[in-house]
This record gives sequence, structure tokens and C-alpha cells, in this order.
Amino acid sequence: MTEMKMIGLIGGMSWESTVTYYQVINETIRRQLGGLHSARLLIHSIDFAPIADAQEKDDWDTCAKAMEDAAVSLEKGGADIILIGANTMHIAAGAVEKAVKIPLLHIAEATILRLHRDHIHRIALLGTKYTMCKDFYKQKLIDAGLEVMIPEDDIDTVNDIIYNELCLGICRKESKAELQRIIREMQESGAEGVILGCTELGLLVHQSDCEIPVYDTTLIHGEEAALFSIGRDS
Ligand code: GLU
Repeated sequence: MTEMKMIGLIGGMSWESTVTYYQVINETIRRQLGGLHSARLLIHSIDFAPIADAQEKDDWDTCAKAMEDAAVSLEKGGADIILIGANTMHIAAGAVEKAVKIPLLHIAEATILRLHRDHIHRIALLGTKYTMCKDFYKQKLIDAGLEVMIPEDDIDTVNDIIYNELCLGICRKESKAELQRIIREMQESGAEGVILGCTELGLLVHQSDCEIPVYDTTLIHGEEAALFSIGRDS
């Protein structure tokens, strides 16, 4: 086998989901290669508090600068590919691509591949208010021919569960029930599947909790990165 490529992950956004990334990347390598194989992986884990503050103030330049600096340090460390370990911070995907020579594995593009493979056209998107309401993420899905639904009346509910609970490691059964209700209502309005477009949502909602297919972006992104690192297709 040619040498495994090194994955460079910008983590800490929040670190609760970086744990999942570490696990899914290594599990995928073990499943693919067997034995004692494990991932070649660099994690640049940032302090999330100033980033979350900057997001709240709409100071996206500060967010982008933090992503660029982290990506550059991963490239210098020998990474062959960059992962931004959060959907929201893909708002800085273009800036990161300009800052490094190595490729960025975009979380929405990885997810779109799965949706196309499953012939899904009408998709519900759950994530932070930024991911659900701004264009940087939704537009990629629309450009890929998907019809995107967001929970118009529950944007704050989902956003609050993410920042006030999941990013702090708090998993409440009441919040899980809320997310299940929201997904069910979107299903009734025609959604054929749901994107867990926030890397912490998978801490609370799983495929077994929903009737429609669930696309957990953390798992998809991590798996695709692991497969890239060993030159295999998903
Ligand atoms: N991890 C989250 C996401 O996937 C939210 C935290 C953040 O704002 O980066 O969007």
C-alpha cells in the first residue's frame, strides 16, 4: 500500500464533536485496513469561545482568520488535506482554500455525494442559525440540484440546543424529543431526508430516531476523509 495520507483537522468547534471525528476517522481506517491500522491525523484544536463570540457579532473576518491560521499550521505540519470540523465555519471555506495549497474536503460537498447516491431531492437542513439562514451552505445544496427546507419556526430552538447544550456536552431527552418533532414535521411537509448540518447534532439524534434517512455530516465528513487518506472511494 502507498503511504497513508495525513488528515489535517481543524477541531474544537466544539471539541464535543471533534471527539466523534477522531473516532469515526479511526474506525473507518480499521474497517478498511483491518488489524492495528489507525489514521494518520493532525488535529489543530482551537479555543471555541472567541470564535462563538465573533460569530454572534457577525465578525466573520475574525472567524476566517482563525481558520486560515489553523489550516496553515496543519499544512506546515505535513497534512495532505484540510477538514474544517464544523459546518458553520465552512463560511470560511474559500478563505482557507486560498491560504493553503493542499485541498479542503468540504463538508457539504461530501454530504451532497451521499444525497445524490440515494436519489434524494428534497432535504431538510438542521444546523446553527448561520448554517440554516445564510447562503454559504444552502446555496451549495441548491446548486447541486437539491430543494432545501429549514425549520422556519424552530430556528432558535435548534440553534439554542446546539450552543447552550450540545457544545457544552449536555444531552437532554427533552431536546431530543424537540428535534424529533421538528424532523417529523419537516417529513410531513415533504422532506425525503434530513441533514444533521451541525457536527454536534449526532450526539442527540440517530437514524433509529427518525423515519426518513439521516445524513450526519460529522460521520460523512470523517468517513470521506479517511477514505481519501487511503486512496479509496466511498
Ligand atoms: N459544530 C457546529 C457546526 O457544525 C456549530 C459550532 C460552530 O459554530 O462552529 O456548525
